Amino acid sequence: MLMEENKPLASFTTFGIGGPARWFVEAASEEEIVEAAAWARERGLALFVLGGGSNLLVSDAGFDGLVLRVGLRGIAVAETVEDSGQTIYQVGAGEDWDGFVERAVRDNCAGVECLAGIPGTVGGTPVQNVGAYGQEVASAIERVRAFDLEEHEFVEFSGAECGFAYRRSRFNSADRGRYVVTRVDYRLTPGGAPTLRYAELQRALAESEREGREVSLAEVAAAVRRVRRSKGMLLVEGDPDCRSAGSFFKNPVVTEEQVRRIAECSAKEPPRFPAGTGPENMGRVKVPAAWLIEQAGFAKGYALGAAGVSSRHTLALVNRGGASAAEILALASQIATAVEARFGIHLEMEPVMLGF
Ligand SMILES: Cc1cc2nc3c(=O)[nH]c(=O)nc-3n(C[C@H](O)[C@H](O)[C@H](O)COP(=O)(O)OP(=O)(O)OC[C@H]3O[C@@H](n4cnc5c(N)ncnc54)[C@H](O)[C@@H]3O)c2cc1C
Repeated sequence: MLMEENKPLASFTTFGIGGPARWFVEAASEEEIVEAAAWARERGLALFVLGGGSNLLVSDAGFDGLVLRVGLRGIAVAETVEDSGQTIYQVGAGEDWDGFVERAVRDNCAGVECLAGIPGTVGGTPVQNVGAYGQEVASAIERVRAFDLEEHEFVEFSGAECGFAYRRSRFNSADRGRYVVTRVDYRLTPGGAPTLRYAELQRALAESEREGREVSLAEVAAAVRRVRRSKGMLLVEGDPDCRSAGSFFKNPVVTEEQVRRIAECSAKEPPRFPAGTGPENMGRVKVPAAWLIEQAGFAKGYALGAAGVSSRHTLALVNRGGASAAEILALASQIATAVEARFGIHLEMEPVMLGF
């Protein structure tokens, strides 16, 4: 395996920001993952698993350890679940996520069509339970295969064992940094109907519905890509609004009492969405962080040095060109402080921080 030293990381992230990795290696097989993990262990080095770098802010100083980039490829249609007729796709963790969504849609298999246009790798999807436009990967993941860096063995988790919740799983909470995901098995429904829960998506597809036609999975995926593009949430070459990590803050899940307080402070009723099913969400709702940020005085296009708020989506912080990680964090802190001062709501950052 080629262990590279002092490898600049900026070009491996969608932010285009960050210093070098002390060591860097790309693993194309499970054997190489075992080998790279042993190499880091023998030298007492910290190990960080890198996918597509689309949910990541790397510090200006870089990372003083081994960055292991997961490059395992392959999509296999493995089995049909007998009673449901659903199909299991076994997907290598290094596969491009959007490429897999395209394949599923082409095969007319439902389950991930609303997640079109999200950057990153398949291995990154279970980590924060990727979700958008009414779907989350939690509802389609059958199994996750991973290498356990503590026990030095391969393990498999059922979807239920992954501990999925909003932007959360065991991989980014209790077991953060413990597993290298090598394969994700997706359970999709051949000929299944698309998920059309999200109002904005329903509006984008209203024409087809008015014509009384059934909306296809391909039409839904295309509509999602169009909506994402209009918000700078699709990676498009040369578009400065997509030099980001997507949403920089999570949507806060709050109590009804907090909603009343927000309404009092802003003299406006905040938009709200269901918080999700788990018992921790009982009596709670999700309030859009983008709305809170706008109400706290940050308009689209707001700039602080080379860091800025996207000109098309208040929730995305962007590198306006040559921004440092410190500048992005200064802007994030300014926004979070203003929202907290105005509404008493603490905004939690969504991207993973490396080397801070
Ligand atoms: C324009 C844009 C739009 C976005 N829209 C959305 C959206 O709608 N919804 C959403 O949920 N997210 C969105 N994101 C965030 C991001 O695309 C997802 O979180 C994506 O799944 C991250 O995958 P990645 O491979 O790039 O992970 P990375 O950014 O490389 O890593 C993120 C975390 O996952 C871990 N990780 C990655 N791969 C593995 C692996 N194989 N094994 C173990 N750990 C691993 C890393 O260690 C790190 O902790 C968006 C980002 C951008 C830039």
